[in-house]
Amino acid sequence: MKAAIGCAVIGYGGMGSWHAQRIAKHSDLKWVGAYDIRPERLQDFPGTLGGQAFASREALLDDPGVELVVVATPNDVHKEVAIAALQAGKHVICEKPVAMDSAELEAMIAAARRAGRIFTVHQNRRWDGDYLRMKHILDANTLGPVFAIESRVHGSRGIPGDWRNQKVHGGGMVLDWGIHILDQALMMTLPRQVVSVQAQLTNVTNTDCDDGFRAILTFDDGLTFLAEVGTSNFIVLPRWYMLGENGSAVIQDWTCKGEIVMVSDWENRDAVPIQAGAGLTKTMAPRTDETIQKFPLPEVKADWSEYYTNVVAAIRGEAAPLVTHDQQRRLMRLVEAVFDAGRRNEVVKLRL
Ligand code: NAD
Repeated sequence: MKAAIGCAVIGYGGMGSWHAQRIAKHSDLKWVGAYDIRPERLQDFPGTLGGQAFASREALLDDPGVELVVVATPNDVHKEVAIAALQAGKHVICEKPVAMDSAELEAMIAAARRAGRIFTVHQNRRWDGDYLRMKHILDANTLGPVFAIESRVHGSRGIPGDWRNQKVHGGGMVLDWGIHILDQALMMTLPRQVVSVQAQLTNVTNTDCDDGFRAILTFDDGLTFLAEVGTSNFIVLPRWYMLGENGSAVIQDWTCKGEIVMVSDWENRDAVPIQAGAGLTKTMAPRTDETIQKFPLPEVKADWSEYYTNVVAAIRGEAAPLVTHDQQRRLMRLVEAVFDAGRRNEVVKLRL
């Protein structure tokens, strides 16, 4: 049997304790302990979890029992903490967004190369069931050629009142939720390349950083992908909407309520005009039941624990990390293009 890999968390807030719970239950990982810059965060430590509350970052990094460090601090200190851990010879899982920009990311990758250690990012939403269902529909060509995808997350509470609403700490919704849905956009559409980005950043409840955004990515085959995060949306639009030449798919929310509607008789599309508002329309008349067919969404396996299983295998030299440096480079460049397009109110042309 292979020895379990000793793990510790730096930044023991919401996500740091989330990782700790999962590490403690993983048979290939050994929970060692945590450090937080605010000692009160570790006041009730270790509780039922066990492990050590380290008095300093140095003490944690000096502990030879710690082989893997999870960085779960606010975004602006990811780089500093991750590089310190790599220089101490630890493998690193960094929370998303990996860094504030591409330059920070390159410094982190260089430190990982020098140290010869695994450095990967917790893009956990690649295991979301809603995303995997939409990816399955796209990959299986269920709807025929797909020409538009819309991916939205909507809330109505503004940005939580912590570091997330402060630009200096890497706050704002592009870096918070955007990083997940843009990562999904890039991963599900492979091998397509993004050729242009349009974006609007919103500042409804927060002037310091964006409290939402809407970005349209256009891919080299003409596919468009609308990515939208809103925090002032009292009526929530569907999580996913996909349009293909032969049908449409919708997923309402994270419980994966939704359906696929396919055309069964394209030729039979003439319609009697309907009254629509103050006029008549044939074009927008609803389809009759005999020309369409409805299907449930596909069943998919969505097992987030594959993430840690892969990190363990990567540390043991048995697999390559699933979340790679090049994927992170591409994602950070896309994030920068969204900011650039939004701030200048111009279409950014690129090849990504
Ligand atoms: P949080 O504010 O709850 O926790 C952050 C903790 O880091 C705090 O306890 C703070 O005291 C500590 N900290 C700050 N600076 C530090 C330093 N220099 N050294 C050590 N500790 C320090 O925030 P959170 O919601 O847990 O978010 C942490 C990270 O996790 C962020 O990068 C966030 O984007 C990410 N996150 C990821 C997901 C996901 O689904 N992958 C979800 C939520 C948050």
